[in-house]
Amino acid sequence: MSLQNSCAITQARIDLAALRHNLRRVREAAAGKHIMAIIKADAYGHGLLRIARALSPGVDGLGVARLEEAVRLRDAGITHPITLLEGFLEAAELAVISERRLNVVVHRSDQIAILAQTSLAQPLGVWLKVDTGMHRLGIAPAEAESAWRRLQSCPAAEPLGLMTHLANADDRSDAYTLQQLQCFNQATAAISAPRSIANSAGILGWPASHADSVRPGVMLYGVSPFSGGIGEQEKLQPVMTLCSRLIAVNSLHKGDAVGYGGSWVCPEDMPVGVVAAGYGDGYPRHAESGTPLLVNGRRVPLIGRVSMDMITVDLRSQPQARVGDPVVLWGKGLPVEEIARYASTIPYELLCGVARRVEFVEVHADG
Ligand SMILES: *Cc1c(COP(=O)(O)O)cnc(C)c1O
Repeated sequence: MSLQNSCAITQARIDLAALRHNLRRVREAAAGKHIMAIIKADAYGHGLLRIARALSPGVDGLGVARLEEAVRLRDAGITHPITLLEGFLEAAELAVISERRLNVVVHRSDQIAILAQTSLAQPLGVWLKVDTGMHRLGIAPAEAESAWRRLQSCPAAEPLGLMTHLANADDRSDAYTLQQLQCFNQATAAISAPRSIANSAGILGWPASHADSVRPGVMLYGVSPFSGGIGEQEKLQPVMTLCSRLIAVNSLHKGDAVGYGGSWVCPEDMPVGVVAAGYGDGYPRHAESGTPLLVNGRRVPLIGRVSMDMITVDLRSQPQARVGDPVVLWGKGLPVEEIARYASTIPYELLCGVARRVEFVEVHADG
C-alpha cells in the first residue's frame, strides 16, 4: 500500500481488490445472472467514479438513484448501461436522459403517460417497477400488466423488463419475502420479459429471488446485508477502512472526567488516547462508550462522547501506545456492521456518511 502522496491524518482506504473479490461472490451466489451493480450515493460513500471504473469490466450494468450521478458517469467516459433507479420526475428531464443513453425505472402510471406524449430520437430503455409490498415506489400489482402493454406501445420507450424491491429480505426467516415473490410472479405471469428482484440480501439469502438480473449494492462493499450479520460470514471483504492516528496519550487520574459533559469518569489512574477523528469525519456521534476501535491492530473501547474532531479511547490494555500510532475506526479487522450496532444505526448510513474532509486513498494490495 502506498501512502507517499497522502498526508491527511484521517483516511478512507479503498481496497479495489476486495471490491473485485466481492463481485466474484455475487457471481458465485447468483451464477449466470445479469448483474446491475448499485453505485448510488457515491457508491455507498466509496467514490462513484473509482467504483464504477473498477466494477464496469465485470458487470452488465450500473444503477444509480439520481440523474446527476449518471451524468457524472457519462462525463467520465463510462459507456456501460446505466439505470436511474428512481426514473424521472418530469418530462423536462427526458432529453438529457435520452441524449446520455440512460435507462429508467418507471414506477408511476403518469410516467408512462409522459413517455407516451414524448418523441425521442432514441427510445429510452425502461424497467417497469411493481410494488409487491415495499409500498414506496411501484405500480400496483393489479395494474402491472396493463402498464406493461402501454409501455410496449410507446415509441419513446424500449421496455427492458420487470422489477420489484424486497422490503424484509435482510431477515432470512421473514416469510414476507416469499409473499412478495408470489405477488410478483402472479402480477407478471402473463408478461414475457426479464425480471429483476434481488438486492444483496436476496442474492445471498433468497435464491428464489434471483430471476434474470440481480442488483447487488452493499455486499459489493463487503458488508453483510443481514441484520446482525457481518461480511466475513458471507465471505465478503470490507472495501473501506477508515483510519486515523493517536494525537495525544494522556495519563489521567482516578475520578478525572473525559470529554464534553464529563460523562465518562476514570475508575483508576489510566492512559487515555485521543484519536484525530470525530463526527466531522462521519464517525457516528452516537457511538456509545465501549464501541471498539483498533489501536495498533488491537481493540480498545471508546470512552466519553465523540467530538467533532476527536475520539477518546481507554488505553489500559495498551499502555505502550504512543502518539502517532495507527487507529482503525472501521474496516479491515473491525466490521463496520459492529460499529453501526454500537451507534444504533446501519452500516449503509456510516459508509454513506464519510465526510468530504477525509482523504480517500486507493489501496491496491491484492489479497
Ligand atoms: C439500493 C438498491 C439496491 C441495492 O440494495 P443493497 O441492499 O445495498 O444490496 C437494489 N435495488 C434497488 C432498487 C435499490 O434502490
